[in-house]
Amino acid sequence: MSSKKIVNIIAYIFIAVILIFVFTKGKPVEKPASSEIYSMNTICDLEIYGKDKEAALQKSVSLINTINGIVDDFSPESDVYKINENAGIHPVKVSKTTIDILEKAIQIAKQTNGAFDPTIRPLLVIWGFKNKNYRVPTEEEIKAALKLISYQDIVINKADNTVFLKHKGEGIDLGGIAKGYTLDRIKEALDNFNITSALINMGGNVLTYKNPPNSSVWRIGIKNPRGNGIRGIITVKGTKFISTSGDYERYFIKNGVRYCHIINPKTGKPARKIISITVVSDKGYLGDALSTAFFVKGKEFALQNATRFNVGVVGFDDKMTPFISNNIKELITIYNEAR
Ligand code: AMP
Ligand code: MG
Repeated sequence: MSSKKIVNIIAYIFIAVILIFVFTKGKPVEKPASSEIYSMNTICDLEIYGKDKEAALQKSVSLINTINGIVDDFSPESDVYKINENAGIHPVKVSKTTIDILEKAIQIAKQTNGAFDPTIRPLLVIWGFKNKNYRVPTEEEIKAALKLISYQDIVINKADNTVFLKHKGEGIDLGGIAKGYTLDRIKEALDNFNITSALINMGGNVLTYKNPPNSSVWRIGIKNPRGNGIRGIITVKGTKFISTSGDYERYFIKNGVRYCHIINPKTGKPARKIISITVVSDKGYLGDALSTAFFVKGKEFALQNATRFNVGVVGFDDKMTPFISNNIKELITIYNEAR
């Protein structure tokens, strides 16, 4: 292993939500086409193997940048920025991708009774998660922001390709679904190239594509949510999407209380039922949005609803006790201590 690779792996311990280990044995494998870019507020790491790896890498990076350009709510050029700016004023013409992500986000919002809500932005603003000026808002501020949270207020007109938020002050934030959605689009793109294997990690949202070179399984580390190292391993075969949401990704501590970036749309306060949850899925957008929704809803809901969504879940509750859904028990190894 080169020293650059080792440095990369160490960096992951601090940055990424979950760690990736690819154990290769025997003869050296082909060098992947690889890239590390900063996009969607996170580090994206791509490794692609096969005859078309260079072209596939270029296409994947371009998909990440294009979708980031659509969902970046700070860029005046982005669809999401324009929709938010014109909330309560007029509909905005947007790309097909924007409509596609929003439709999927609304679908998950309905299926989770609004635990996932893409109109969460006003709450993120008052808690300081948008400008990184973290603060605990007053109950009045929370009450006022809660009135603006309603995925039912997103009006999509597919004939005109427009999106409209009904009320002034409402705002869309796709941080809980955009990375998983992008992985779906990358997977689709890889299918059109001659690719034998790929591993794409977008800040804790991972796509394993086909099998790793020289191995029949992927071994994905589950990050220790309270400190360094990993607390377990997920073993998966072939193409899968693995998404983690945790209270250690973005948070602040005030008077001994931890406030994280995932907000319960019913209470207007950061969710605190669990510490982290990882969803194993056949769809990127689904795993990503569900990890956020399950984080809000907690352990019982996640375990009871895993099969309904055809996903597996593994996580740690507020006492750091691990929980695993029955359908992926044989894929998970949990360590008693961080390694
Ligand atoms: P993730 O790491 O996938 O769980 O996404 C967390 C991000 O989703 C946050 O940083 C916010 O941008 C956004 N978010 C926070 N709370 C919610 C929520 N209840 N529903 C939808 N998105 C949310
Ligand atoms: Mg998510």
